[in-house]
Amino acid sequence: MLAGPLRIPRSGVICLTSCYIRVVPRRLVGMTEHNSTSIKVVVIGGGYAGTVAANRLRQRDDVEITVVNSRPTFVERLRLHQFVAGTGQAEADYGPLLGNGVRLIVDDATRIDTASRTVELASGRALDYDYVVYAVGSTAAPPTSVPGAVEFAYPIAELEHAQRLRAVIEQLPSQAPITVVGAGLTGIETAAELAEQGRAVTLICGERLAPTFSKRARRVVARWMARHSVEILENVRVAEVLQESIVLSDGCVVPSAVTIWTAGFGVPELAARSGLHTDALGRLITDETLTSVDDHRIVAAGDAAAPSNQPLRMSCQAAGPLGAHAADTVLARIAGAAPAMLDMAFLGSNVSLGRRAGIVQLAHKDDTPMNAHICGRIGAPIKETATKWTLWGIRWEARRPGSLFWVKGGRRLAVSDSELVANP
Ligand SMILES: Cc1cc2nc3c(=O)[nH]c(=O)nc-3n(C[C@H](O)[C@H](O)[C@H](O)COP(=O)(O)OP(=O)(O)OC[C@H]3O[C@@H](n4cnc5c(N)ncnc54)[C@H](O)[C@@H]3O)c2cc1C
Repeated sequence: MLAGPLRIPRSGVICLTSCYIRVVPRRLVGMTEHNSTSIKVVVIGGGYAGTVAANRLRQRDDVEITVVNSRPTFVERLRLHQFVAGTGQAEADYGPLLGNGVRLIVDDATRIDTASRTVELASGRALDYDYVVYAVGSTAAPPTSVPGAVEFAYPIAELEHAQRLRAVIEQLPSQAPITVVGAGLTGIETAAELAEQGRAVTLICGERLAPTFSKRARRVVARWMARHSVEILENVRVAEVLQESIVLSDGCVVPSAVTIWTAGFGVPELAARSGLHTDALGRLITDETLTSVDDHRIVAAGDAAAPSNQPLRMSCQAAGPLGAHAADTVLARIAGAAPAMLDMAFLGSNVSLGRRAGIVQLAHKDDTPMNAHICGRIGAPIKETATKWTLWGIRWEARRPGSLFWVKGGRRLAVSDSELVANP
């Protein structure tokens, strides 16, 4: 545990050994680490959900908010494919993204000890909490069942993955074959971004291209890919990944100087490691208020949450509202009120096709695709605006806590306790 009064330098950065603390120094000046009257909320994960939650908690002056994040900068995961292709950056400074008084600790949370109400950190320290917002996001999951996938395929889910991948691609001759495995939204965006830069790309779909899109929207994606010489392989799976090729389920061998694995995300194991109930993927199982089914002091948000064991699609579109709702649940508990049930609706999904095109698949409120989409040149600015909006939304919440709003009325299916997957 940290002890004693915090001394905040002008820069707002206090350097420690393997981590650092950064405070936006308005309300914390003169406040001690163990202000006995304050309610301590530790937000684990400073991504899209965690930053919104931290900012929204500022509606109360007596809440001491600490964000623990493994990196010193905010990672715009939506732009990781751009970073890999050399067409964009994917890091943002936390300064304007966290409201005054929110403390950022750069460290890894290694365990939540619910008995002593502490979050243990990799640096050996521990943070007391009254409430935890669990917002650790998602990560890559190359399958161990596909020989060579873990050894030779490159994931793109996290900043460090993208940095490694970009360094490898930069060393490749321009015509070297690159294979993208997985034709969901991340796979499509990655393949398109690289193809527009003149790379020779093959996209392996498993089943079909853009499976969550309507038939007409899928055709638009296929046409763009054909125009940019991306080879699309549908209804075929990867059986093995080798250093310079991949073997397909039909026995064909595809040359591949670099294989990028985008098929499926995993989540960090922190919840399971802390003895909390998780779903099969490791997401924290909560009720519809986003409260852990094990402990009312732990509330989850973002990709790592599985409300009623019926997780929402992993997306920024869901992460922001989930972060806001998690904060509202904590604030309700502090006020002695009953927290509200989660209510959010999806609007659709959009993908960029390089820098000059994009497609927006409109969706019903339960996230099933409508037979309507927006594409072509207007698709690109819509996607870019949506990507920028994610950061604007966080900044807005930092300046005006409680202001974030979202579309409601989405259908959520509750399941009974007996259907919950226990882990451990
Ligand atoms: C290439 C790519 C493109 C994408 N494009 C889109 C898109 O167009 N639209 C869309 O809606 N979604 C998109 N996504 C998905 C989107 O990025 C995620 O759904 C979103 O980031 C989830 O937000 P989150 O806050 O739950 O998690 P994250 O944004 O992943 O944040 C989690 C944070 O927790 C930190 N953390 C994890 N474990 C610990 C720990 N133990 N201790 C401390 N900190 C920890 C991480 O470092 C991270 O900063 C894309 C993802 C990728 C990889």
